[in-house]
Amino acid sequence: MADAHQAAQRLETDLRLRGIGPGRRRRLAQTGACFPENSRLRRVRSRAELATAPPASRSTGPRAGPVSNPSDAWLEPCPERREPNARAAPCEPVSDTPPLDCLVIGGGPAGLTAAIYLSRYHLAIMVVDGGKSRAAWIPTSHNHAGFPDGINGVELLERMREQARRFGTKIESGQVTRLERDIDTGLFTAEWGSGPVRARSVLLATGVTNRRPPIDPEIHDDAMARGLIRYCPICDGYEVTDKRVGIIGTGERGVAEAVFLRSYTGDVTLVAPDGAHQLASEELDRLKAVDIRLVDGPITHIEPGESTIAVQASEELTFDSIYPALGSDTHIQLAEMVGATLTEDCCIGVDDHQRTDVDGLYAAGDVVHGLDQISHAMGEGGVASTTIRNDLAKLSPLLRDPVGEESLDKLESGA
Ligand SMILES: Cc1cc2nc3c(=O)[nH]c(=O)nc-3n(C[C@H](O)[C@H](O)[C@H](O)COP(=O)(O)OP(=O)(O)OC[C@H]3O[C@@H](n4cnc5c(N)ncnc54)[C@H](O)[C@@H]3O)c2cc1C
Repeated sequence: MADAHQAAQRLETDLRLRGIGPGRRRRLAQTGACFPENSRLRRVRSRAELATAPPASRSTGPRAGPVSNPSDAWLEPCPERREPNARAAPCEPVSDTPPLDCLVIGGGPAGLTAAIYLSRYHLAIMVVDGGKSRAAWIPTSHNHAGFPDGINGVELLERMREQARRFGTKIESGQVTRLERDIDTGLFTAEWGSGPVRARSVLLATGVTNRRPPIDPEIHDDAMARGLIRYCPICDGYEVTDKRVGIIGTGERGVAEAVFLRSYTGDVTLVAPDGAHQLASEELDRLKAVDIRLVDGPITHIEPGESTIAVQASEELTFDSIYPALGSDTHIQLAEMVGATLTEDCCIGVDDHQRTDVDGLYAAGDVVHGLDQISHAMGEGGVASTTIRNDLAKLSPLLRDPVGEESLDKLESGA
């Protein structure tokens, strides 16, 4: 039964690689078409199989340096570095199913943009997504170009998924927990809920997670949906123009965020989350110069109301919106498992074409040092996918055979 399912999947992939439309694919599948070893369609699969040859070694060169970034101040110390697979048990052995051309890990704007491009390059790909895209937190984005009335994050993601599926991308829900690369073959093996999957290349588009203040998750999400709690001054600072804004944070990150938001409103308060502010005298001078108020913590309670949000710290405060500036955690674990180099700020290091220093491994979006915006994530997804396509083509040319209508008609009719 499993074999029949695999054969059907292989047939579907072969036909899709041939550029055969869904209707005809369905009809051919119903006829139980199979490809003799010497048929043209069979040769397509052989090419895919041939493509499992080990990647040519590539000069990795020095890593791209960090770019100037408004979120520079949000840098976190890296967690303890791990040796590649130091604590990882080996992945389960995988069946002889042909490997994917590319496995995309992460289905946010970066991963889904890459998936749209990759599937339109006629490559066999799959997206595995943990379903926690930061984009899904966006009540309405007003800075994403092309949507003058704004777009809800969940809807944007759904549109992108639909677009990717339209060109044949398979999108699976799940968390990839293990990634390995075979040095001899260059093939990657990824382990997730439905078992191991092999791929000739992997794109990590795993994003970051913002640290939240300690509020009940339901109350938090409701307040975020109503714009009482916000996380992205670049995205929605415009929406707090001339409003009362509280920033939950301190230190370099808190100061940078407060000063950034000061260009939107004259009413900015920086509230220390845990105790008294610990600020250098230059930071204090900087805040004083632009009239940013300082309130010591600890914050004991945050209470969203109808249209304002109350913060209980060393005094009781009321704001139109608060911005937690508590940092974020970058999802770099899979990159570490295969020994990719990280940047000083704990992102995955890439070159100008989104290549990591591990052959066949690419990264895009928030997980790479950058602007942490949808447009940037999408741009990097486009660059990464085209690099992947071109690197794969160097290993084995991506050429389509002329379509033989006659042989397809024969297969369809069962002759
Ligand atoms: C409240 C808020 C509002 C924002 N508003 C805007 C805005 O208006 N405009 C704008 O441009 N940007 C906005 N942003 C930023 C924007 O959401 C991000 O820059 C964008 O989502 C980054 O895309 P990404 O694909 O890199 O990562 P993400 O969208 O975070 O997607 C990463 C995906 O990878 C998955 N993943 C992680 N690890 C694994 C794993 N091991 N296995 C499988 N899947 C995995 C995650 O579950 C997630 O689905 C906002 C962010 C927030 C938090």
